[in-house]
Amino acid sequence: MTDRPVDFAVIGAGIAGTSAAYELAKHGTVKVFEMEATPGHHSTGRSAALYTECDGLPPLRRLAMASRDFLTDPPEGFADAPLVHDRGVMFVALEEHEDKLQLFYDDQHALVPNISRLDASDALARCDVLRPERLAGGVLEPDAMDIDVHTLHQGFISGLRSRGGELQTSSPVTGLERRSSGWQVQVGSDKVDAGIVVNAAGAWCDVVGAMAGVRPIGLVPKRRTAFIFGAPEEFDHQSWPMVVDVEAMFYFRPEGPNLLASPEDQTPVEPQDIRHDELDVAMAIDRIQEVTTMQIRHVRSAWAGLRSFVADNVPVVGMDPDVDDFFWLAGQGGYGIMTSPAMSRITASLITASELPADVIGRGLAEADLAPARIR
Ligand SMILES: Cc1cc2nc3c(=O)[nH]c(=O)nc-3n(C[C@H](O)[C@H](O)[C@H](O)COP(=O)(O)OP(=O)(O)OC[C@H]3O[C@@H](n4cnc5c(N)ncnc54)[C@H](O)[C@@H]3O)c2cc1C
Repeated sequence: MTDRPVDFAVIGAGIAGTSAAYELAKHGTVKVFEMEATPGHHSTGRSAALYTECDGLPPLRRLAMASRDFLTDPPEGFADAPLVHDRGVMFVALEEHEDKLQLFYDDQHALVPNISRLDASDALARCDVLRPERLAGGVLEPDAMDIDVHTLHQGFISGLRSRGGELQTSSPVTGLERRSSGWQVQVGSDKVDAGIVVNAAGAWCDVVGAMAGVRPIGLVPKRRTAFIFGAPEEFDHQSWPMVVDVEAMFYFRPEGPNLLASPEDQTPVEPQDIRHDELDVAMAIDRIQEVTTMQIRHVRSAWAGLRSFVADNVPVVGMDPDVDDFFWLAGQGGYGIMTSPAMSRITASLITASELPADVIGRGLAEADLAPARIR
């Protein structure tokens, strides 16, 4: 069966695809195709839900900054609950890594001037379970936030629908055939003609690219584990910031009555519905017990998700340099939730050949920083 043609066919209903579709629906007809029965089944539904301006390379930090206003003050009617909540992040270093803490502070301070250096007793005052004798101290980013990922994702989906766009779940795209202009998209036994294809298939972006005969961007999905355990009852853990090791060996943060933690693993794998490895959970527990007084005896739940990167660890956002009407929105790594408001607006600007949004340019970001051509 051939469905009615659309201007934009978006492949993938994670945060990337739905946010891009939400922005594109202002400019034409949009259909999002999602292979799973539920949008957000893969990376989007498995994140640690953090907004920080102190993580990743400068283009990613600028993308996060250009997303902040949307997250703190979304458009009228976008969601019926706040998208973010104050949290703060405290980056800590073991005693022997004091030099790394100073380097981290110097590096971050240029872009985020309100971060501050803490000594070990300041760090303990902010998180009661730390062992000050093991720590060189910390760096506090007071304006980091928890993101309500479900509310953000649903806001993009309902906004897309109210602008006339459609989302089709249980609809894997299995083929892409070039037409004289645009594409014929094969979705199960159906075919849909589309002017432009937006490839927002997460870990599967190179698989989708291969369907279109487009050269790969060299995307590598990496497994990242997270788990939940009960917070110690004797402390008000809700007031703690997220605690992140400056050497990227662990993090933990309040999650309701519990704590959410990760060993910050990044094991390269094939795109798949990934499961966690118990060894990664055990490794995180060891590391957290080394720097805190917590004894983690019972893990309430654990999972893993994929964070996908290209060689330079910067997202790929732009039209394919060799094949017309094929747009990449890939390689968000561990930053796809916090950067989605800016990346989706950049996507709509590039596709409609308009200027990048003023606040994005104001952050010092240029089209070339994200363009697929840079990695070919
Ligand atoms: C443990 C963990 C912690 C993280 N913490 C954070 C954090 O604190 N802050 C942050 O900003 N980011 C974080 N991230 C990263 C963030 O989750 C990702 O960057 C983001 O979710 C990527 O979104 P996406 O839409 O590209 O991918 P996905 O959510 O994976 O969506 C891609 C979709 O495409 C679909 N698809 C694939 N192929 C096809 C096809 N052929 N046809 C139809 N559909 C298809 C898939 O089913 C999937 O639903 C974390 C990730 C993990 C795993």
